[in-house]
Amino acid sequence: MATPMFRFDPMTLPPEAEALRGEVRAFIADHADAMSFSRSGFDRDFSRAMGRKGWIGMTWPKQYGGQERSALERYVLIEEMLAAGAPLSAHYISDRQSGPNILRFGTEEQKRHFLPRIVAGELTFCIGMSEPNSGSDLAGTRTRAVKVDGGYRINGTKLWTSNAHRSDYAILFCKMAQPGEEEVDRHGGATQFLLDLKSPGIEIRPVIDLLGEHHFNEIFLTDVFVPDWLLLGKEGNGWNQVTSELAFERSAPDRFLALFQMLREMVRLAGPDPDRATAAALGKLVAQLATLRSMSLSIAGMLQEGLQPNTESAVVKDLGTRYEQDIPVVARQLFPTEPELEAVETYVSMIARSTMSAPRLSIQGGTREILRGIIARGLGLR
Ligand SMILES: Cc1cc2nc3c(=O)[nH]c(=O)nc-3n(C[C@H](O)[C@H](O)[C@H](O)COP(=O)(O)OP(=O)(O)OC[C@H]3O[C@@H](n4cnc5c(N)ncnc54)[C@H](O)[C@@H]3O)c2cc1C
Repeated sequence: MATPMFRFDPMTLPPEAEALRGEVRAFIADHADAMSFSRSGFDRDFSRAMGRKGWIGMTWPKQYGGQERSALERYVLIEEMLAAGAPLSAHYISDRQSGPNILRFGTEEQKRHFLPRIVAGELTFCIGMSEPNSGSDLAGTRTRAVKVDGGYRINGTKLWTSNAHRSDYAILFCKMAQPGEEEVDRHGGATQFLLDLKSPGIEIRPVIDLLGEHHFNEIFLTDVFVPDWLLLGKEGNGWNQVTSELAFERSAPDRFLALFQMLREMVRLAGPDPDRATAAALGKLVAQLATLRSMSLSIAGMLQEGLQPNTESAVVKDLGTRYEQDIPVVARQLFPTEPELEAVETYVSMIARSTMSAPRLSIQGGTREILRGIIARGLGLR
């Protein structure tokens, strides 16, 4: 029999993960005022409180402040926090991808400097990948680094950088400048840096989104000096490193749990005795959620085994996005209302917010077309 191109083995949560669930729910109840139906809740105090519980970087080695707990325990923590609408933004990127990338590719000095601060909820990272004219086509990045005495001189522009205005560092993806040479290998020269966002030569300008909120930014880098010790991994190995970072980004349960509170609100509105059509529509959403959760848990299990489930992550992100974009559509059909962003009534404002933020879901972290290309390659179709 041919080897399957991707797999989703059933995964059962171990008792310690279920025990943690109770602890997380108690913590959430104690911080009820901090919960909201907004994806961008940024609250350093909440992150510090999570840090004190040992819930940031919880799978990392103890020598860097981690708890050496399993990916399945982390899964339970994240799903409970997302379902409750916890404000995770001040540490989420650092916990999900920047920290793991430093752990994997960083020097001992970088691990000792950055990881304990992330674990304490004191250090916010953002993702410096996309640029004007190179979002999907990351290999087309134009930001260039030149080796100079004691470090690198970097010039370029980054775009759509979530939370850059509130972050301490970015993991910057760029290329080494090769003056006078034609680019032969599109992935060649790609390099990552740990960029201190307070460095001279950096200007961060807001980009206001559809909701009228400041979440995105444009970052201009003019002759920014980055010292040698902040090179992440090796010069020229950036493509390999960024691919690994994207696998962390795409496999998380936030790809289908961001609108969980809205689903719960719809179940509440339907009441204990809904008509058949309402029950069928809600039943379908709940069944899809259960399926996505099983698939995502299976990925957490593979990460625990040290595997790289890139194709599986792309499948979950694509299906999860479609599911989330369906939620406001089904809601409007079942419980029609005039959406109003500022409304006090939860459902009315939820429907406005989710409808206006739905388009971003299939763009962030890789567009639908790009993910399907990855899946096709995983299946051996291209
Ligand atoms: C909410 C949100 C948060 C984000 N946060 C960050 C962040 O923190 N850091 C960061 O670096 N970036 C971030 N991004 C940017 C995001 O990763 C890019 O927008 C995304 O990769 C798409 O790039 P683009 O906007 O340049 O569109 P393009 O790449 O120009 O794509 C435009 C359209 O063409 C299609 N397309 C492109 N290439 C192909 C192809 N080869 N085959 C078929 N179709 C193709 C795409 O699917 C898309 O539909 C964020 C985006 C959003 C929406």
